[in-house]
Amino acid sequence: MSEQRNYKQPPPSGSARNILLTLAFGMIGASLLLAQVDGQPEADSLISSASASANRSPLIAPPVELTRLVLPGWLERDTTTPRSPMRPANDVRPPSGWVEVTVKSGQTFSTLVEGLGMPRGDWAAVLALKGDAGRLSRIRVGDTLRFKMQNQRLAGMEYALDELTTLHISRADDGLQAKTQTASVEHRQTFATGQIDSSLFAAGLDAGLTNRLIMEMAEIFGYQIDFALELRRGDRFTVLFEEIYKDGKRLREGRILAAEFINQNRRLQAFRHEDSDGRGAYYTAKGEALKTGFRRTPLDFARISSHFNPNRRHPILNTIRAHKGVDYGASTGTPIRATGDGRIKHRGVMGGYGQTVVVQHNGGIDTLYAHMSRYRSGLRVGSRVSQGQVIGYVGATGLATAPHLHYEFRINGVHKNPVTVALPRATPLQASQVAKWSPQVQLWLAEIEQINARQLAMKNGADLPN
Ligand SMILES: [Zn+2]
Repeated sequence: MSEQRNYKQPPPSGSARNILLTLAFGMIGASLLLAQVDGQPEADSLISSASASANRSPLIAPPVELTRLVLPGWLERDTTTPRSPMRPANDVRPPSGWVEVTVKSGQTFSTLVEGLGMPRGDWAAVLALKGDAGRLSRIRVGDTLRFKMQNQRLAGMEYALDELTTLHISRADDGLQAKTQTASVEHRQTFATGQIDSSLFAAGLDAGLTNRLIMEMAEIFGYQIDFALELRRGDRFTVLFEEIYKDGKRLREGRILAAEFINQNRRLQAFRHEDSDGRGAYYTAKGEALKTGFRRTPLDFARISSHFNPNRRHPILNTIRAHKGVDYGASTGTPIRATGDGRIKHRGVMGGYGQTVVVQHNGGIDTLYAHMSRYRSGLRVGSRVSQGQVIGYVGATGLATAPHLHYEFRINGVHKNPVTVALPRATPLQASQVAKWSPQVQLWLAEIEQINARQLAMKNGADLPN
C-alpha cells in the first residue's frame, strides 16, 4: 500500500467512487469492471487495485482539484434537455390532506398505519385487497406510503411499487379498491463529450456523465484501450446515451447507445445492439464484438511471480522443467475467476498441481487453474461458468512454495503464454442482425460526426483572437 502516498488527498468516499478511482487511476481491468457491473462488488480488491496501480499512469493525479483544468469551450454539455439532479421517482410533495410516511426499521404495514391512527378495520381491509395490494404486507425500510384520512376512515392511499408503478387505493361506495398505475416513460437521447486532461474520471464528470456512465464507457472500450497505460492527455470521447423521463420529468440516465473514443489518434467506436431477449452488447459498426472472449488474467489484482518459460529450473524439484503457465503471487483466499465462458472439465487434485480446475472453452481452448486452497462451492464437472465468475481461491496445494495461482492457456492441447497469446474476440453479430441494425448505426454515426464538427468549430472559435 506504499503507493498510496501518491495521493495528494484521500479518495472521495463511497464505493462507487472507489470503483471510479480504479478507473481514474488506471488499473482498469475491463474484466474487473465487468464483475463490478454485474453486481458482485469486491470492494477490498478494487481499492487495493486502485492504489497499487496509482503510480503507473501519467494521468493519475487526483481528480478533484483538476476537474476544472480543461480547454476552454471544449467540454460542452447538452443543453437541449434539462438536467436535474436525480430524485426518487415519487419525490413530489403530497397534496394537502395527505400524509406521507417512510417505513423505518422494524415497522410493518399494520404497526405503521395503526400508529398513525388508521382503524384496524381499514388496514385489515387494505391487506385483504387482491392483486398488488398484497405487496403492502411486504413493505421494506425506506418505502414511502401516502394516505388520506377522512372522518377517521381511510379515504385513499398510494404506494410506489417501483420507480414506474404506483398502487392506488381509494374508497368507493362498496368499500376500498386498489388499482395499479404505470407512469408513461419516455426515452430521450442526449450526449456528452469531453477531452482527457487529467483523468478519465475527471473528464467524464466534467462532460456531465455520471459515475455509472463513466464506468460503462470504460467497460465498453476497456478491451481495446488499456486505460492504465495508454490513456493520454488530449484523448477525446463522445457518448450518446438515453435519459429516462417519467411523466415528463427526468427520472435517471439510461444506457449508452453509441460512443466514440479517440485514443492517441486511434478512433474506436461502439454501438449498442440488443438481441431479441433485450440483452445488449457493444459492437463496431460492422458488427464485430468489442469484447474479447477472454480476460487476460484470472485474478483482479496480481503480480506475476513466474513467467511462461520452456527452460525453467523447477523451484522444488530443482530440475529443468518447462514452466507451461504463469504464476500469479496472491494471498491465500484471493478469488480466482474463469477467464472465459465454458464448462468445468476437471475439478480435483492433479498431482503436483494440487487442487486444480480446468475449464473447457469453445475453439479448442482449455484454461487451467492450479494450487487452489478451495473450489467455489456448487461447481462440479460439467457446470457452466461465465467469464469473470469465481471458480476457486488461491492456495498452495500440491508442489508450491508459497500461495500462488498457476494458470495455463492451451489451444488444442498446446500450451500458450497466457500473457501474450492473442485472445479471441467474442462472437460477432450475424449478417442478418447487422443488416437490420445498420440503419440505426448510421444515424448514431451521423450524430457523432455532427457533435464532433460542432466541438471542433467551438474549439477553433475559442482559439481565435478577439
Ligand atoms: Zn506455475
